[in-house]
Amino acid sequence: MTQVRVRFAPSPTGPLHIGGVRTALYNYLFAKKNHGVFILRIEDTDLTRFVEGAEEYIMESLKWCGLIVDEGINEGGSYGPYRQSDRKELYRQYADLLFDRGYAYYAFDTPEELEAMRMAAEKEGKTFIYNSAIRSKLKNSLTLSDVEWNARLDRGEPYVIRFKMPENEEIHFDDMIRGHIVVNTSTLDDKVLFKSDGMPTYHLAHLVDDHLMKISHVIRGEEWLPSLPLHVMLYRAFGWDTPYFAHLPLLLKPDGKGKLSKRDGDKLGFPVFPLYWPYGEKARGYREDGYYPEAFINMLALLGWNPGTEQEIFSMNELVDAFSIERVHKAGSRFDPEKAKWFNHQYLQKRTNNQLAIEFREYLRPRGFHIDIVDLEKLVALVKDRVSFVKDIWEQTDFFFKAPAEYDKEAIRKRWQTNTPDILKELASILNGLTEFSPSSTETAVKAWIAEKGYNMGTVMNAFRLVIVGALRGPHMFDIISWLGKEETLNRIERGISVIGTGQQ
Ligand code: GLU
Repeated sequence: MTQVRVRFAPSPTGPLHIGGVRTALYNYLFAKKNHGVFILRIEDTDLTRFVEGAEEYIMESLKWCGLIVDEGINEGGSYGPYRQSDRKELYRQYADLLFDRGYAYYAFDTPEELEAMRMAAEKEGKTFIYNSAIRSKLKNSLTLSDVEWNARLDRGEPYVIRFKMPENEEIHFDDMIRGHIVVNTSTLDDKVLFKSDGMPTYHLAHLVDDHLMKISHVIRGEEWLPSLPLHVMLYRAFGWDTPYFAHLPLLLKPDGKGKLSKRDGDKLGFPVFPLYWPYGEKARGYREDGYYPEAFINMLALLGWNPGTEQEIFSMNELVDAFSIERVHKAGSRFDPEKAKWFNHQYLQKRTNNQLAIEFREYLRPRGFHIDIVDLEKLVALVKDRVSFVKDIWEQTDFFFKAPAEYDKEAIRKRWQTNTPDILKELASILNGLTEFSPSSTETAVKAWIAEKGYNMGTVMNAFRLVIVGALRGPHMFDIISWLGKEETLNRIERGISVIGTGQQ
């Protein structure tokens, strides 16, 4: 088999949608699985849609995801340049070649004329298709005499070059995901290949590039499937071999109704872009929301592909081993924001306490807390299994860093009795008498005291928790107080007693 060469070919028109990241991922996995080459090509021939910053955003996103580009605008390679605007000079000759072979023609219709025809068709309840019937009635190099159309070119009149779609021909081709497809050319229109601004359209440019860059497999979004018959016709017209094609299913909204959009994310509270987008209409990103790239990639890999086993957690290397285009689904994949969080939870559990402590220290630093890493390791160990993100650790542990400013009223009403202050004072003196303040030594001493006095364990421990935490939440009490240390524990008991008092206020 010839070398596998695949490309991810985004247009820099804004932030990269996670559907685009998934396309990049599947290309990458396919390349690595087959010892092939993963190429990044920037498709910027549509000057009107170019957005400043988008190209850098794409590259930064791939880097964050761990999708290492083999050939691209930064990496170089033997088939460059890898940005279409830098290849601009190259495309014209291919449009000319098609013209010379009778597969393309010059068309002089103005945008106004086209609009009028569209409106007229609409009035009759028809959709306007620019096909052989229409072309014979318009001004182009097929209907005008050679002298006439050449004179128009000489006068500098705007024109486009269109593909001359044959009439009533069956085109057969294969898609690796969708199987054999047959399309009749009469349903297709004469697409523009070369525009009046001197730029090729996507159809011409990507195809020329795929050929020149020796792309073996074109793996891209399903939205390009309707254009595939045209592309197959173009390959034939050039006399080039077609690559293999695989059109990936759409990413759907959580309710399964339609394509996943930024608006769904805004409405339901999740990002649809890998990174924060800082320009114009700003958008949140998975990275800034605290996702690990490994979790994000793992989640995306399973949106449209399944390994055929129950396994859900895959490292990038495992994905490379397990991936196959044949197991990519035809149907759209519904995006599930809860599942995305679940993946992050799984990856967070795999972190060592030391790794998490370092990450949490970074989170605390701008908030003015400088805590010893060993203490943070103990802390994260206490709450790790309850959190999905590093930022959740803060929500679970804020009371470790500051004594409660207030006490849960409902808990006071239910759990605070008139003799509670006296019992807590006794507890304070038991704790004060201990030389060792480890979880087990405090627990043994406190439980022995409760048993000896015949107190109710729940009553004592709830009141204890209330003065230490401020509410009835948090990990094991003796883990908490051991972390806080004797002095802070006694201070909090004292303060709780004096603020809550009899609990009647
Ligand atoms: N530039 C196209 C896009 O952004 C690429 C389509 C393709 O991969 O052929 O969707």
